[in-house]
Amino acid sequence: MSSVFDPEDAIAATASAPGPGLRGIVRVSGPDAWRIALAGFEPVRPLPAPPPRRAAIISGVYRLPGLRPPLPADVALWPAPRTYTGQELAEIHAPGSPPLLAHLLAHCLAQGARPARPGEFTLRAFLSGRIDLTRAEAVLGVIDARDGRRLDAALAQLAGGLAAPIDALRDRLLDLLAHLEADLDFVEEADVDPIGRAALAAELAREAAALAALTDRLGRRDRSQERPRVVLVGPPNAGKSRLFNAILGGDHALVSPLAGTTRDYLAAPCACDGLVVELVDTAGIETAADAIAAAAQERRSSEAERADLILACAAGDATGPDVLDEDDRVLRVWNKGDLQGPPGDDWIVTSAAAGAGIAELKRAVAAAIRRREGDHAATATSARCRDALTRAAAALQDASSALLASAGDELIAFELRDALDSLGEVTGAVVADDVLDRIFARFCIGK
Ligand code: GDP
Ligand code: ZN
Repeated sequence: MSSVFDPEDAIAATASAPGPGLRGIVRVSGPDAWRIALAGFEPVRPLPAPPPRRAAIISGVYRLPGLRPPLPADVALWPAPRTYTGQELAEIHAPGSPPLLAHLLAHCLAQGARPARPGEFTLRAFLSGRIDLTRAEAVLGVIDARDGRRLDAALAQLAGGLAAPIDALRDRLLDLLAHLEADLDFVEEADVDPIGRAALAAELAREAAALAALTDRLGRRDRSQERPRVVLVGPPNAGKSRLFNAILGGDHALVSPLAGTTRDYLAAPCACDGLVVELVDTAGIETAADAIAAAAQERRSSEAERADLILACAAGDATGPDVLDEDDRVLRVWNKGDLQGPPGDDWIVTSAAAGAGIAELKRAVAAAIRRREGDHAATATSARCRDALTRAAAALQDASSALLASAGDELIAFELRDALDSLGEVTGAVVADDVLDRIFARFCIGK
């Protein structure tokens, strides 16, 4: 069996979304893609000879055994190497009926293509140097993103959001390494000047800061690496602590009839409808005198800021200012429903005391988290990038320490190379086959 890393054969797959649709696409990539796609196809106008050296879309009909009546279709042809995969590429655009597309795909396979493995088109794009690893993964991010904000992040990454600054950082480190190696005996002939230790220290600090900024940017879309944080917020006495206990189903927080009892915050893992979240009970508002100022402070407070979902709690005897209204991470919870109903219909009504509405609340929490977490692939991407960036930062730190300890240039150069390797992993300049395999296995077939 040929290796996926040795793309000498033609692959084919339906590339449109599964299920019926207006248009369906069968994609073929490989040395023979055009011949395969054009077998059994009758163009309305004769094909130009020699074949076009630019992309062409040809209308016609397929006359295939077992296919009646003849199937009208467009065949798009792209000559190598300026295609998505870097190889000869063909797409059959036909009506989006699943049996029809299955028939067309079977036809391509009969012509000598083999079924594409998940992500294999994008793998070929990567192997041919058409896209780098961050872009390849971003393709997957775009495919999977259901949430608009994540889609933006994925698109930014596709545009080289991470790749460009990392490449720039690598360039500067390579430059630094060249200067450093000019100091070493074995590159006496190098045409760069040796670099002074003070200049090197300053440069290392600058690159470490650049790396930290990159890691921070990554971190902003990486929060879902951890358990999603669901934070209870609201005025004192709304019943947050009692809700906290009711949701957890145990006595985790101290519940007191006196407002202001919850001092710090309490957090506990909690299973909601098959999803484990970190449930957090905050003090914040309760300890401050001025409810409005405190609520505003709560809005900015790190817990609410770090929350994936905010449960804005209120009750008949505890209504606070709706400072959280414009935040799309908010579920509004009307507690003490046993005493008084909510002022509108956009509330989830609970009674922590009676244990009523708790199951519904947990379901709503899980649904909201799932909505926000459309994009698992981007999460895996950022975990991998974060890991590599962390190792690069550690290597830079070690280089700085070695410098401070007046270590030899060899040791500093070694650490710099280590940092460069880790950065290279992010954009795929240095990457092991097994890592690639794992990345591309996550793609959908046909992508
Ligand atoms: P927090 O300040 O928001 O954390 O509120 P607590 O959880 O400490 O509750 C404040 C008071 O409201 C306590 O006396 C609770 O027993 C009471 N309480 C909480 N939830 C309910 C509820 O659903 N129904 C009723 N009747 N009382 C509740
Ligand atoms: Zn409390």
